[in-house]
Amino acid sequence: IQQAAEILKQGGLVAFPTETVYGLGANGLDAVACKKIYEAKGRPSDNPLILHIAEKKALYDIVKSVSKKAEKLIDAFWPGPLTIVFEKADCVPLEITGGFSTVAVRFPSHTVAQALIQAAHLPIAAPSANSSGKPSPTKASHVIFDLDGKIDMIIDGGDAEVGLESTIIDVSGEIPMLLRPGAVTKEMIESVIGKIEIDPTVLTKPSQTLIPKAPGMKYTHYSPKADVILVQGNDLQKVQQKIQELVNDSTQKVGILATDQTKDSYNCEIVLSLGDRQNLEQIGANLFKHLRKFDFLGVEVVYSETVPQKGEGLAIMNRLQKAAGYKMITLS
Ligand code: AMP
Ligand code: MG
Repeated sequence: IQQAAEILKQGGLVAFPTETVYGLGANGLDAVACKKIYEAKGRPSDNPLILHIAEKKALYDIVKSVSKKAEKLIDAFWPGPLTIVFEKADCVPLEITGGFSTVAVRFPSHTVAQALIQAAHLPIAAPSANSSGKPSPTKASHVIFDLDGKIDMIIDGGDAEVGLESTIIDVSGEIPMLLRPGAVTKEMIESVIGKIEIDPTVLTKPSQTLIPKAPGMKYTHYSPKADVILVQGNDLQKVQQKIQELVNDSTQKVGILATDQTKDSYNCEIVLSLGDRQNLEQIGANLFKHLRKFDFLGVEVVYSETVPQKGEGLAIMNRLQKAAGYKMITLS
């Protein structure tokens, strides 16, 4: 931790575990250090970074003000997988906010992340530690695969518990807006601050007229090399039948993204189960790992089941739709 903190203080890059996914950290107040994040990831410069802190009082140095609703969310969900957007203080460089006057801030619950941020004694800018566009890393080996040779250090903290990026909320408007769904669900947030809205691009393909408020959400994301096609329907048996038909008709190397309830019913060489359909936390934790596994196995097309968009299911479907480039077969 001391060694990693030194690297950060001197303007270097350290990948570290958090409860959501692995982050690629740099001194968040140093525009030159943060530029290296963009270079290592191949990230477009208009895609802003999240600043990570390890004590609540560090927030007041990097934002202009904290609203009542934001305070309530902080008390309820920090430390944890919730990112909140604030008006930025002057010390936060525009280079890390994509030129916006706002900054996104999170206080992670992972003890290694907390120890590192405390030791560096800095707000740490840290997007996911993957190559831009690839599924986010949930293991140190994913980070090595994408970024080895491009960064100064990786701290291996085992598998990320949540496995999906943080929920992002903007509470600056009259009605708070969910910009990216995650493990802190819409329902959980509404139980603390009342009704919120969901950015329409969470579940609909962004376009020239439908531009996401979180700039990163406009990019193709979370995509394996394989083509991903989702098959959705109310009747799970019909979904299974349809996927089996598609697999039978395919001339490419195919894989199926299934669940514990369905995995044994398929006749296909490569079937990966996301977990128990009743356990969305488990499905969320396995999603990116499995998308990367299909690439590793040389799969060309993945047919995937879907989950209901309730609770963490909203975040899972958001990531699945992006991985699929919104290709979905809906059964009547
Ligand atoms: P990553 O850490 O790779 O998941 O990327 C951070 C995400 O936070 C990006 O996709 C951005 O869209 C979002 N984000 C960061 N700063 C802001 C901001 N000021 N306003 C809205 N979204 C933001
Ligand atoms: Mg990312």
